[in-house]
Amino acid sequence: MQRRNARSDEENYKTMFASSGLRKSHLVFPVIVSNSPSMIKSMPGMAVTPVRRISQRVQSIADSGISSVIIFGIPKSRDPIGSSAFDRNGIVQDAVREIKSSFGSAMSVATDVCICQYNLTGHCGIISYGGRINNDATLKVLAKIAASHAEAGADVVAPSAMMDGQVYAIKRELHNRRLDASLLSFSAKHASSLYTPFRSAAFAKMTTRLDKSSYQVSYSNSRVALREIETDINEGADMVMIKPALMYLDLVRMVKNRFNYPVAVQNVSGEYAMIKAAAMRGWIDEEEWKVRSIASIRRAGADKIISYFVLDVAKYL
Ligand SMILES: [Zn+2]
Repeated sequence: MQRRNARSDEENYKTMFASSGLRKSHLVFPVIVSNSPSMIKSMPGMAVTPVRRISQRVQSIADSGISSVIIFGIPKSRDPIGSSAFDRNGIVQDAVREIKSSFGSAMSVATDVCICQYNLTGHCGIISYGGRINNDATLKVLAKIAASHAEAGADVVAPSAMMDGQVYAIKRELHNRRLDASLLSFSAKHASSLYTPFRSAAFAKMTTRLDKSSYQVSYSNSRVALREIETDINEGADMVMIKPALMYLDLVRMVKNRFNYPVAVQNVSGEYAMIKAAAMRGWIDEEEWKVRSIASIRRAGADKIISYFVLDVAKYL
């Protein structure tokens, strides 16, 4: 690939971000916490962070001027009901307490609220006899998980299970327990193989391909996605999320136009891996595509952008 002038590229990226209205306050870095450190094979350059090093990791994020993180947990072991997801001393709860005690209000902490990283099936709901997802039983567990994260100090709880009524169930639990975390709902989480690189880290021992299409949104139907989003807004979500990012930016604009509501977008592991893999072969310019990905998400109207590229692009802001 032809080498270009690095200095003029840098100026171009700065101009591109400035004209898209992007600020560092729009950016959120996803931190994957685990008990032991390891690189994620299908996400070159990305590692999971052990809880004992979480403050160090968050300091490096704060040093680049980013003041929001979202925590995804990979526990040491799983059990049939995913009980470590709501354990007071679970991996996410420990990480949140540690970050909040070191950084206080200088770092906003959101948490992924789900059971799929903690149970044996890898599904986001509890499976009843007959193999069906038991929506209502799952709501009770999600409410318990969210409350345990809020008790540990999370500023934002972010349910990602795509169960019906999850926003209302969690809001009610937080209210009853006088916990004041705000709620970011993964409202339109599309069934997608773009989650595979993250899943390969979270589900290292699982061999079967997980089909979550019975509760996640289909990519081809914007009406269903908009209905899910409207329901979550009506149930009291403080912000709604669309995930993955780049193939769903039309939805971001539709939501802004129709509901004029705060929208977050998650640029997922597969979107990261595609750019990294092509760049490693010299087929695309990595820096340009990182910057353009983030700028296009902002251009579509996202108020918060969760991306593994956040730390790399912060220098242009
Ligand atoms: Zn899940």
